[in-house]
Amino acid sequence: MHEIFEPGRRIPVIDETEVLVAGGGIAGIAAALAAARNGARVTLVEKEYALGGMATLGLITIFLPLCDGMGQQVVYGIGEELLRLSITYGAEADYPGAWLDGGSAQERRAQRFKVRYNPHMFAMLAEKLLRENGVSILYGSYICAADVQDGRIAHVIVENKSGRGAIKVKNVVDCSGDADVCKLAGEDTYTNPEGNGLANWYYYYTNGEVKLNMFGLADVVPDPEIHMTDPDEVERLASIGEMRFSGVDGIQLSEAVQIAHGKMFDDILKRRATFSDLVPVTVSGIPLVRMSRRLRGRYELSEADVGRKLPDSVGMTGDWCRCGPTYEIPFSALVGGRIRNLIAAGRIISTSDAVWNVTRVIPPSAVSGQAAGTAAAMFSDFDNCSIPALQERLLGQRVKLHMDQKMD
Ligand SMILES: Cc1cc2nc3c(=O)[nH]c(=O)nc-3n(C[C@H](O)[C@H](O)[C@H](O)COP(=O)(O)OP(=O)(O)OC[C@H]3O[C@@H](n4cnc5c(N)ncnc54)[C@H](O)[C@@H]3O)c2cc1C
Repeated sequence: MHEIFEPGRRIPVIDETEVLVAGGGIAGIAAALAAARNGARVTLVEKEYALGGMATLGLITIFLPLCDGMGQQVVYGIGEELLRLSITYGAEADYPGAWLDGGSAQERRAQRFKVRYNPHMFAMLAEKLLRENGVSILYGSYICAADVQDGRIAHVIVENKSGRGAIKVKNVVDCSGDADVCKLAGEDTYTNPEGNGLANWYYYYTNGEVKLNMFGLADVVPDPEIHMTDPDEVERLASIGEMRFSGVDGIQLSEAVQIAHGKMFDDILKRRATFSDLVPVTVSGIPLVRMSRRLRGRYELSEADVGRKLPDSVGMTGDWCRCGPTYEIPFSALVGGRIRNLIAAGRIISTSDAVWNVTRVIPPSAVSGQAAGTAAAMFSDFDNCSIPALQERLLGQRVKLHMDQKMD
């Protein structure tokens, strides 16, 4: 490959913070909120100009379940707070009345604790919440380098309209969805060999209604009546799913997005042949990436951990596509072995390939975000920190750590 040399340059230190949260998706929102509530000065750096990541800009507007599918809630704390926040001004669909309006145990077994929300309202509400809690948000800023000294990140380098700038940090929470900071800092990471299938969700208007089209792959438990008997649906899913992309190759990602746009456009024209007034009203503004790169942490959460009590649990999750299984999320799946002031949250935590599909969705991302943000506010070295002290703090903030723990 032909290469050029970029000369060294002096970079201004534009800010200093205690906790730098890299990325403002669900994990980043939860991490920033938790760190600020635990007394830290927090800066959240986001490359886009809104909060929520996949969950808002990507139009992934299904807050998957906070429960285990057997009638028991497992995600509490900021995960539940964000679900409630997302529907402050009304749910789009799937209102979980059995959970929010005091349903019986039987009703809770019959309805999972999930909801469909409006992405734009949620993004604005999340921004307001973080600002009210004193989080400093830096939008339009791409984290492009990490200055590592003696096994710690000393500065995070961002690039934005002003050029490059360095932010001096005490701790960093990587919530980038692609483990960008882990990679840049030299932490051990793993890239999904299976890649990602194309998807491009969009809202459209027709016949007096605005509806969501989960165009491409969707994380909904397949409804046999729709997916297996509708030949158009089968054909549509097959046609958009032919390309795989890693999510961490810039040129390939750009190409994948353009192919998805083309297929979405064809889909819109096809639907207009039947519904002539149909127009798209919002299309996903970021690439839809499920599993790209993750941390290879001190512990890899795997299927062997279903239902297991883990001594360093910092929260819990159910399995969005199966009723019954629950996982405790251990602190050791959030930290690696190389960088002492770096912790990961969201869809990049350390898991096996099978469990990645469980931990990457919205509720567990909020759980790991809350745990990582709290830890980042409390400690300055993740190699030497008190897990019991962290667990006690999380318990005080309404986090369920173990299945046998009673909650109000
Ligand atoms: C097609 C599809 C369908 C899905 N369906 C569902 C569903 O129905 N329900 C559900 O709960 N989950 C679903 N998910 C998963 C879910 O939306 C996300 O995985 C989840 O929201 C994880 O959030 P996160 O905060 O870890 O990552 P992200 O939402 O990816 O957030 C990462 C943030 O970091 C920012 N960022 C990235 N790199 C940088 C950088 N270098 N510098 C600065 N900022 C950066 C991004 O702009 C983004 O805002 C789906 C995902 C896909 C792709």
